[in-house]
Amino acid sequence: MSVFETLESEVRSYSRGWPVVFDRAVGSHLYDESGKSYVDFFAGAGALNYGHNNPVLKQAVVDYIMRDGVTHALDMNTAAKRDFLESFRDVVLAPRELDYKVMFPGPAGANAVEAALKLARKVTGRESIVNFTNAFHGMTLGALSVTGNSMKRGGAGIPLVHATPMPFDNYLDGQVPDFLWFERLLADSGSGLNEPAAVIVETVQGEGGINAARVEWLRALAELCKRHGILLIVDDVQMGCGRTGPFFSFEVAGITPDIVCLSKSIGAFGFPMALTLMRPDLDIWEPGEHNGTFRGVNPAFVAATEALRTYWTDDTLEKGTLAKGEQVERVMHGIAEAHPAAGLKVKGRGLARGLRFADGATAGAVCHAAFERGLLMETSGPDGEVAKVMPPLTITDDELDQGLGVLTESVAATLGRS
Ligand code: PLP
Repeated sequence: MSVFETLESEVRSYSRGWPVVFDRAVGSHLYDESGKSYVDFFAGAGALNYGHNNPVLKQAVVDYIMRDGVTHALDMNTAAKRDFLESFRDVVLAPRELDYKVMFPGPAGANAVEAALKLARKVTGRESIVNFTNAFHGMTLGALSVTGNSMKRGGAGIPLVHATPMPFDNYLDGQVPDFLWFERLLADSGSGLNEPAAVIVETVQGEGGINAARVEWLRALAELCKRHGILLIVDDVQMGCGRTGPFFSFEVAGITPDIVCLSKSIGAFGFPMALTLMRPDLDIWEPGEHNGTFRGVNPAFVAATEALRTYWTDDTLEKGTLAKGEQVERVMHGIAEAHPAAGLKVKGRGLARGLRFADGATAGAVCHAAFERGLLMETSGPDGEVAKVMPPLTITDDELDQGLGVLTESVAATLGRS
């Protein structure tokens, strides 16, 4: 038995679906120890939007390390952090007319979410948070309390409180007008809903099954929040940094959240880094009131700055993402049409796409067949019923075609040529 089986905790998961030892990774390919290559339609669950070992980012990081640039600095001022903040302001915030203060919580997405929830409660003096069905916000207790998945919630071991789930867009199959229930609860003093501090939402639910909210729904949500004095938190941990096309996934709806959570690809090279962005008037933190050791991973600032300068000073990446996303969508529709009896559904936006199968076993079998053919894909959704396609945004057209060809074959092999 390998050391992974004898020593590493039973909690490990991805290594079970992909039981090889990976060793190298370049662009949109990973290589196992035997040299077998895999097209990566997983992209570190959204942490590798710019691909593995992106040469431009790598050079910046290598140069920084070779000149003995500061690596670890808590939240001390460093030149690398200054460069990042200045480029984030100039390249991301200013052109979008977004006025946010930038907070560095711990490096994970869950850290960004915890900080957002804590701040919303501090600002409003209220406890309750409204979240959505099938949401995923992370595994720490606060983030878990606003997460839907019952298996993950079960791991908490204590009651997960102060969160009230509402139906996400299309949860009720369009049978009920959007926000009927939410508005009714807010208006009725007998409803039992405590006045919420904030609503937390993903514009596209990545772990929850690649559920893309319609832009009208997002706008109506933002408007509802404004009308009722509820803070709107957009968790862009997985869908931010260009995954759906624009830098922020909410741009397409023309809304401005009060608080935004970013992580995963903001560190650009697969490095740990997270941001909680807040409206300036919400920045009522006391110095040190929310801190953590790993808030200043400076090689992540260097990679992040380089990524902003390389990919976000024009719209080439954004346009490419949208075009590639349409290509994935076309192929998925073709697959669905080739297997009418299977009732497949094509989901998603930009380069966050999903193919929904009848059940988790079928989607899992498709991903397994893909793995055997050299393609990495994971499942998502409450029962793992959605096969998820999330390649690096920098994937080439040839690599994308190659991966989509494998997906087509894997579905056919699993379902039979029905
Ligand atoms: N929020 C969203 C939308 C996510 O997709 C994730 C992780 O997949 C998280 C938060 C948690 O991020 P992390 O696993 O880095 O804590």
